[in-house]
Amino acid sequence: MNHPEPRRPPGASTSVVLDAIRRTGTISRVGLTRATGLTGATVSTVVRRLLDDDLVVEIGRAESTGGKPRTLLELNQSARYAVGAHLDHSGITYAVTNLAGAPVARMTRPGPATTEPAQVLERMAREIDLLITGIGVDRSKVLGLGLVSPGPLTSTNGMNPTPPSMRSWEDFPLDTELERLTGLPVLLDNDATASAIGEYWSGGTSGETTFAALYMGTGIGAGFLLDGVAYRGASGNAGEIGHTSLNIDGPVCWCGMRGCVEVLAGPAAVVDAAWADPRVARAAGLDRLPDGASIAMQFAAIARSSRNGVVGARQILERSARYLAVAAHTVVNLLDVRLLVLTGASFAAASHIYVPAVRELLEQSFFARTSHAVDVRLSHAADTAPAIGGAAMVLQSELVPQRTAPLTTLDHAGSVRSELGSLSH
Ligand SMILES: [Zn+2]
Repeated sequence: MNHPEPRRPPGASTSVVLDAIRRTGTISRVGLTRATGLTGATVSTVVRRLLDDDLVVEIGRAESTGGKPRTLLELNQSARYAVGAHLDHSGITYAVTNLAGAPVARMTRPGPATTEPAQVLERMAREIDLLITGIGVDRSKVLGLGLVSPGPLTSTNGMNPTPPSMRSWEDFPLDTELERLTGLPVLLDNDATASAIGEYWSGGTSGETTFAALYMGTGIGAGFLLDGVAYRGASGNAGEIGHTSLNIDGPVCWCGMRGCVEVLAGPAAVVDAAWADPRVARAAGLDRLPDGASIAMQFAAIARSSRNGVVGARQILERSARYLAVAAHTVVNLLDVRLLVLTGASFAAASHIYVPAVRELLEQSFFARTSHAVDVRLSHAADTAPAIGGAAMVLQSELVPQRTAPLTTLDHAGSVRSELGSLSH
């Protein structure tokens, strides 16, 4: 395999300009000075460099009110690519995205089952190679690989403590091994945070730079972006909303707490409840699924039967949704966000139950509801969000690594929004 040449990370002003171009879609140089607060001279220099690096292209001219028409700039979407891989017990999903975070290829392969981690990673390296070759992308344009796992993450970059379905992965050095096998720089993050970054990078937040993503795949978590920057906590484990307790006398959860949202109402609890009711189990076809069918597969079957009008299946999901709505309520009360994105394969499968349940509870009881509403929406790529997010993580870390300065970014966001309006992008 050819290893891509190491790249110089962009400087702070380059990051700011590139991010403004990405967020607005199309923008003029004058617009960039307004959106970034940089001087015209700096913007000119940075744009020249971005054009030379082929990261940005000029795309004709905007109408002008008098004066000289302005040349518009946009991202050169096919200038760079990134790979995301979501490693979950239920399957391994890959995505390749272009520079704008839009997926250009997706692929799902069987999960690790009982195979040893080392062999699974070798298979993943082969599959990633096939995926890149298959779409004919020049390998030197691939910035890296974002590896997303259910977490929790530790400083050794393994998973510890480990979700019950992935015990053999405890403390395995996922990132260094995959880096060696693929020759690509590897970043590691948990599924909820990666999904949030993917949503932001691919434009799913409509320009909102502070928002939360509530994730439900096999487990439940939350990812936060604050002023466009992911909040990861001290060890990359922020947002474990699935492990907040709703009943301190409830059943013991694998994390050590009692009565967690996940143990009371997560996908595994839904599957258990369906098996406990023979009519629902039969109607959902749980007994006809292959042996060892993952929790995610069984959950999806229950969701399908609910959509098909099986009342028992619907009731089980509605009970779960009441708990998930409380988790959403907690997230929104903590962060006071205007936007909550529901994402992950299980929300995608049963969105008809969970989206209205979350909306209803927030409308009734979100603390700051008299100040502003909360827009609750299902991710447009909820099914494959972690893989797309993995790729977006790489794009963000390579191209806008130094975006901080939260106070001034607020002003930038305002200017960017007005630029959006004037160009009716
Ligand atoms: Zn727990």
